[in-house]
Amino acid sequence: MIYLDYSATTPVDKKVAKEMEKYLYHIFANPSSVHRAGTSALIVIDKAKDTISNYLKCQSDEIYFTSGATESNNLAIQGTIKYYRSKSGKKPPHIITTSIEHPSVLEVCKYLEKTRQAEITYIRPDSNSIINAEDIEKHIKENTVLVSVMYVNNETGAVQPVKKIGKIIAKNNKNRKIPIYFHIDAVQAFLYFDVKPMHLKADLVSFSAHKIYGPKGIGMLYKQEGIAIDPLMYGGSQQKGIRPGTLPVHLIAGFAKAVELLSNRKEKDIQKVADLKKLLIQKLKEKIPDIIINGDVNLLSPAIVNIYFPNIDPEAFMTALDLEGVCISRGSACAAGAIYPSSVLRSLGYDKERVQNSFRFSLGRYTTKSEIIQAVDIIAKNYNKLLS
Ligand code: PMP
Repeated sequence: MIYLDYSATTPVDKKVAKEMEKYLYHIFANPSSVHRAGTSALIVIDKAKDTISNYLKCQSDEIYFTSGATESNNLAIQGTIKYYRSKSGKKPPHIITTSIEHPSVLEVCKYLEKTRQAEITYIRPDSNSIINAEDIEKHIKENTVLVSVMYVNNETGAVQPVKKIGKIIAKNNKNRKIPIYFHIDAVQAFLYFDVKPMHLKADLVSFSAHKIYGPKGIGMLYKQEGIAIDPLMYGGSQQKGIRPGTLPVHLIAGFAKAVELLSNRKEKDIQKVADLKKLLIQKLKEKIPDIIINGDVNLLSPAIVNIYFPNIDPEAFMTALDLEGVCISRGSACAAGAIYPSSVLRSLGYDKERVQNSFRFSLGRYTTKSEIIQAVDIIAKNYNKLLS
């Protein structure tokens, strides 16, 4: 198998798995229990929070563990709206987001809009799938309470100007009675970019462990101290009641281990995926000159590229590659079961054929040069077969 779908998920690093094992059998107690076994588990959670907060340069009590970024995004957005609606019941609060967000942001916004709990403005990107920060500012209104913009787009890899947006919001907040919260979905940026909330002037930031060689089923929401949101679930006082429920010690320890490994090898990982991506593009262009990269290659995450393969049946192409063990993706994994073409590519104004014939390649820590060369050979062979 040649796995080129690291944006969908990453394998768990062996060191992460080894770390987690300890907390399945030995330190397994409920961290809320008051006996010594519970206290030992709580110490593990506290240490994990220290590791993550050191990396993010935030306070450890600004970390709220969730089941993953889908939940983090829901908590950030719905939690903000619930809080504001409980304070001032009159005019629905206003959210500014973009048309290229992950479904765990977009669908939440659509739901809030449909149920008239919030007014939503969807900012469209330019032809490179980049949002213009000034467009966000232009749409700020008196009742705006939240701006939610992703850091790196999961389908195209385009890096958004979140630092600039953070500055714009902070500037506007100086003259506002009700501050605007800034939420960033940083899932696809965690491995390769500066995601420190302080540097981004962000109030809420979503992360997921399974995109950084950690386990599935655990993520976190950074919530700046002093920022109020309401919980979405009730029934426990864990995590200050903002996200109740028994904390999964093994998953949290695994998440922290993945973050620790990341801090030691981030630069090495960036160089590696960037070099391999360059090789992938160069070899593909040599063998299939008709391909087109969706977006400006200089404005992308080092690990992701989305490529248009014209004039072939995309389903047959995908099946042929899968049969030969090459794993790439069309759209995002969360939308892969749907028959609708990618809404992100559609919002770039591409025609139906370009949207349907575009494929995402995402590389990672274990990708090798020989895998890239082999994958290109398989792709070119099958592309040419389908053309003829
Ligand atoms: N946001 C983005 C940008 C993503 O790529 C994903 C994962 N596809 C998510 C949110 C959801 O993350 P999780 O799988 O942890 O729920």
